[in-house]
Amino acid sequence: MWSVEDSLNELEALAQTAGAMAVGRMLQRLPHPDGATYVGKGRAQELVEIVKRLDIELVIFDDELSPNQQRTLEKLLDVRIVDRTALILDIFALHAHTREGQLQVELAQMEYRLPRLSNQNVEFTRQAGGSRGGTGVGGAIGVRGPGETKLEIDRRRIRSRISDLKEEIEEVRKQRTIHRRQRSGQVLPVIAVVGYTNAGKSTLFNTLTSAGVIAENQLFATLDPVTRHIVLPSNQEILLTDTVGFIQKLPTHLVAAFRATLEEVVDADVLLEVVDIHHENAIEQSDTVNEILGDLKAQDKPRVTALNKIDLLDSSDEIDTSLYPNAVPVSALQKIGLDALQEKIAEVLAQNMETVQLLLP
Ligand code: GDP
Repeated sequence: MWSVEDSLNELEALAQTAGAMAVGRMLQRLPHPDGATYVGKGRAQELVEIVKRLDIELVIFDDELSPNQQRTLEKLLDVRIVDRTALILDIFALHAHTREGQLQVELAQMEYRLPRLSNQNVEFTRQAGGSRGGTGVGGAIGVRGPGETKLEIDRRRIRSRISDLKEEIEEVRKQRTIHRRQRSGQVLPVIAVVGYTNAGKSTLFNTLTSAGVIAENQLFATLDPVTRHIVLPSNQEILLTDTVGFIQKLPTHLVAAFRATLEEVVDADVLLEVVDIHHENAIEQSDTVNEILGDLKAQDKPRVTALNKIDLLDSSDEIDTSLYPNAVPVSALQKIGLDALQEKIAEVLAQNMETVQLLLP
């Protein structure tokens, strides 16, 4: 189970990745969050003092705040308020490598922002109108102009961007379905790399593909950038595909937004789960990955586990490989254990091909 402290440690690490430096944390146990200020009123006042005293520029909440809570807190504290969702979106934006990933992150950001646009801009526009055309109702006439306040214009812009993004994503998805169909004609097994954010998926993906890439031939020239055609030392050819990172407390609408990317997982023949075995929450992270795989109905797929970052372990540390299916200790960065990992993938593939053959008449 994730403890509150684990979650806050992770939030701090995420904030650091996004470029912020944490100077302190506050924790409160309440039966339920306050509707207006998330934390209790007394705690909110305390926070006002701390923000002033330490000259804090940003306060991050480890949960999703309602638009109303966010606005109230921003007014009260007079600093930027960010919640877990916004922070995760920020980091996903930094890490989105593919066109589709970038589009999906931007869509999720826009949908997040829409209900959070504030009214402050309207006030500002009205004042500007007032200085031009007098006071009272007459003062607003000029600004009503084409019939919109700045807030309305902002909302309309975001809505129109959202619908453009949805169209573009639909286009990319169509392309990908075509690619997948072409691939399924090739009968090469597909291995999807999954794992918790920061476990080392990209590093492992790059290490495995740069070691074993074969010249991109015409057949695979159309593959999307996250899939590579490689040959294992056993001469088995596979398609290795990278996926987005999983993370705990990913709000449901974000899971929905990334579902399309995760189709790769659902279609894969074998999952290669990367676990950061050096992380104190390695087990919790892997549990979270399993929960998400469960949501995708992909938890029972054949699995190989890369227990990554063994270079960071002390030589006296025991690695318990029995906790994870088909586990192989590796270091993606230091290129340790990669042959054994590839052998294990070949072995699991061979077993599953036998199963398929047994099922055939
Ligand atoms: P992803 O979010 O799962 O794709 O993780 P990345 O591949 O981006 O790696 C996250 C961080 O872990 C990066 O700073 C990597 O350099 C580091 N990393 C990845 N593999 C290893 C490893 O085997 N050993 C060590 N020490 N660091 C690693």
